[in-house]
Amino acid sequence: MSDLSNLAPANIRAIAPYQGGKPISELAREMGLNEADIVKLASNENPLGMSPKAQMALEEALAEISRYPDGNSFTLRDAVSKKYAVQAAQIVFGNGSNDILELAARAFLTAGDEVIYSQHAFAVYPLVTQAAGATGVVVPAIEFGHDLPGFLQAITPKTKLIFVANPNNPTGTLIAKPVLSHFLQQVPRHIVVVLDEAYDEYLSEADKSEAISWLAEFENLIISRTFSKAYGLAGLRVGFGLMHAALADLMNRVRQPFNVNSLAQVAATVSLQDEDFVARSYAANQAGMAQITQGLTRLGLSFISSFGNFVSFKVTNAGAVNQALLKQGVIVRPVANYEMPDYLRVSIGLFSENARFLEVLEKILGS
Ligand SMILES: *Cc1c(COP(=O)(O)O)cnc(C)c1O
Repeated sequence: MSDLSNLAPANIRAIAPYQGGKPISELAREMGLNEADIVKLASNENPLGMSPKAQMALEEALAEISRYPDGNSFTLRDAVSKKYAVQAAQIVFGNGSNDILELAARAFLTAGDEVIYSQHAFAVYPLVTQAAGATGVVVPAIEFGHDLPGFLQAITPKTKLIFVANPNNPTGTLIAKPVLSHFLQQVPRHIVVVLDEAYDEYLSEADKSEAISWLAEFENLIISRTFSKAYGLAGLRVGFGLMHAALADLMNRVRQPFNVNSLAQVAATVSLQDEDFVARSYAANQAGMAQITQGLTRLGLSFISSFGNFVSFKVTNAGAVNQALLKQGVIVRPVANYEMPDYLRVSIGLFSENARFLEVLEKILGS
């Protein structure tokens, strides 16, 4: 029998599939547990759910589901344009912001190009790089954070794209604004910089990104944002990129015409305007982060200070601890595939979920 894997080119065969958080239903099947007894703190989802206004709008929008979505996301585009004071032509919508990362790779990369990103950076960067037949250049992290001077040194004539995650997942590290802006000044303008800001809504007012105001200065900058995290719409899949209109035009050429479904467009539009929900999500995350980091400290565990809605902590034998947590119905995320074999990442949940995680963890470590 022929080896069917040979049908795909080497770059595709070499891709390590993305490992997501284990779904609640899957763990329930595997362990014979009740779904209601399982706590999932593995995918940085919003424990408050979604905006109640978005939920109402979704119920209404269901009546139109037999229609194709608006391929230009007109209403959502208008809302994003007003909220962020960018032109409509500067926005590209994606089926999640993962789609934006992939569209950037498809639009700007070809075989032989080099793409720079950090060690411990979001797993989708190497994935879309390899799928495009380009070569990933990994810059070693410094104390888990991006080494931007190291990025500059890694630039070669083949460099076409740079991915920067700010804050980064799974480390939660944040690059200070002056450091980031200095970096952008130094990057040659023929190299596209994708700045992934999936967690911006979880930053304090002082830390929040100013990168949108930099777009005019840096024509090679793409900022990606998502509705999956603080807006609580992970299951609907919608995100967007902000950039120079000329780059948006190129990205739209490789975009599927109906990549953002109609429910996602409706929910995202309403969510964008529900500032109260985002404020509550931010406050709940602050409180939950304090609860979890204090709990970890009490257990004598070290962790990486995080600016996101998750925190990675260090344990002896992370694989075994993860298995023991799963047995007790607590799902966190192993991050060995991020070259962090001694860490587990826990997403910030509701007070009761965080408490359950800490209680089960304490029991496991004490036994
Ligand atoms: C969660 C996450 C995203 C968002 O993914 P979506 O496709 O929008 O759900 C993007 N970048 C990083 C770093 C993330 O952690």
